[in-house]
Amino acid sequence: MAEPPLMLQAIYGGTFDPIHYGHLNSVTALAEQISLSQVIIMPNNVPPHRPQPEASSEQRKRMVELAIADKPLFTLDCRELKRATPSWTVETLEQIRAEKGHLQPLAFIIGQDSLLSLAHWHRWEELLSLCHLLVCQRPNYPLTMETPELQQWLVTHRTHSTEPLHQQPAGKIFIAPTPLYDIAATTIRKRLASGQSCDNLVPAPVLNFIHQQHLYR
Ligand code: ATP
Repeated sequence: MAEPPLMLQAIYGGTFDPIHYGHLNSVTALAEQISLSQVIIMPNNVPPHRPQPEASSEQRKRMVELAIADKPLFTLDCRELKRATPSWTVETLEQIRAEKGHLQPLAFIIGQDSLLSLAHWHRWEELLSLCHLLVCQRPNYPLTMETPELQQWLVTHRTHSTEPLHQQPAGKIFIAPTPLYDIAATTIRKRLASGQSCDNLVPAPVLNFIHQQHLYR
């Protein structure tokens, strides 16, 4: 008997300082659009030369746990947080690819701003050999890449159909027509520091935790 097809697995990396509805709602919409039954949230360990998260690794992990407790779509993978060293996405994806085998359809989810700055990522040109890229739209960012060469790279790899995402292990870019959420963790941290409400931006259990821990003051 033929083996059943392998289900597309999607990983959502980020700093999540804190996790917010811009993350949760856009990825929920993406999951519906491409029939994803699970999304693995993978908080990152930020390299020392970049601005450090305000919340600790443990606090960022806890906030993700609280945010997804009632959302079966999401699971949590803490491998990058557990490492003593900062992790590059490409290296983590190599590890995941080795675990899952070369036939497993695998995707990494990013926002539109991350697509635009992808060419600054460590070994970015290897990413599509390891996974597909699923892109959630984000307001106030252009839809064209920085240079004609990068735009050509996008056009070459972009698919408008979701089928290749399920049928091929890696190599495609899908820009999903997700609703636009004008929410950023930076804005949330600033609002909290100046005592403004974030009720519609962050799930209530996460907001309670932020207040209990005296975060972002
Ligand atoms: P910060 O403001 O601190 O830079 P952020 O809100 O962009 O944080 P990250 O944790 O850095 O959040 O983002 C993780 C991923 O989620 C990135 O790929 C980012 O592009 C995407 N993302 C974040 N916010 C949104 C949003 N409102 N809509 C769509 N994608 C988003």
